[in-house]
Amino acid sequence: MNTISVAIVGGDLRFVRLAKILFDKGFKTFVYALSHPDIPAGVRVAKSLEEISNCDYVIGPIPFSRDGKNLFTPLSNLNVSIEMFMEYMTTPYLCLSVLKPNIVEELKLRNLRYIDLMEMDEIATLNAIPTAEGAIQYAMQNSEITLDDSKCIVLGFGRCGKILAHKLKGIGANVYVEARSTKDLAFIEAYDYVPIPLKDLKKHLWQFDFIFNTIPVQILDSTHIDACSLDAIYIELASSPGGIDLNYCHNRGVHYVPAPSLPGKVAPKTAAKILYQGLEIIMHKQGEILWYKHLMA
Ligand code: NAP
Repeated sequence: MNTISVAIVGGDLRFVRLAKILFDKGFKTFVYALSHPDIPAGVRVAKSLEEISNCDYVIGPIPFSRDGKNLFTPLSNLNVSIEMFMEYMTTPYLCLSVLKPNIVEELKLRNLRYIDLMEMDEIATLNAIPTAEGAIQYAMQNSEITLDDSKCIVLGFGRCGKILAHKLKGIGANVYVEARSTKDLAFIEAYDYVPIPLKDLKKHLWQFDFIFNTIPVQILDSTHIDACSLDAIYIELASSPGGIDLNYCHNRGVHYVPAPSLPGKVAPKTAAKILYQGLEIIMHKQGEILWYKHLMA
């Protein structure tokens, strides 16, 4: 057992798997607002935020919050308000994810030490693999055609967009990728996908069977939606508000498939392993104090 203490607050099944990894590695492991029969017996189930307020690290859920008021705690009946969480978490190093600007502002205002795990390329890039597999699973489940020989467009060529385009190509789809930067468009062409500049997107939309969105900003307004085929399936990967005018999309009868938190749903063990690798990197960067504690254990 080392003396580094780690608490997990809220989260989905991937955090249950993460609790087991941490416990098996010898960390003093706590969970709060996370309840599941697979949580190892040696993991301490905290009864209050106060109980974990002196931990070295506190890991929040992915996403941190869905409603902007409480942490995301789908496996617990407990409500953990963001306000209370921040009140108590003055000592630990906070490992949080998908933070909205107002939350970042509040964390900074309170001088809390934190990192957004999903801003770490080491985590977000690997996390894009279960995300892409999940997106493909959702596409298959929601359509009557194969992805093979279908026409797919991936909106955005960031970490998720790149991996998803690669997997779709591998499965035999005709892959188009939208990007706004000329650099990305050049890479898209080099990878043998069809590049679609954002400014030209509307005129191409009619042809797609599947539209996968990874852009967390609404880029498809009513005029874009009107341009889509009524048979098109739109799969929303981006965090809220997502990339489409949802009301108009529903009104027009476009097949909209929400696909949040895919790694936690389709590959929670892999997702937990990726998170753990990221935590090790953070702990190394945090440096001497922890290694000193480690040696003294
Ligand atoms: P990323 O690497 O930052 O990529 C984001 C992409 O969106 C980039 O291509 C970026 O283009 C584009 N973009 C951002 N703002 C834009 C704007 N105003 N107009 C046009 N394009 C814009 O992010 P990521 O890691 O791929 O994640 C993408 C989204 O998926 C995030 O919302 C993330 O939270 C979410 N996500 C969801 C799941 C899931 O399970 N559903 C899993 C992982 C991530 P530029 O490079 O030109 O800025």
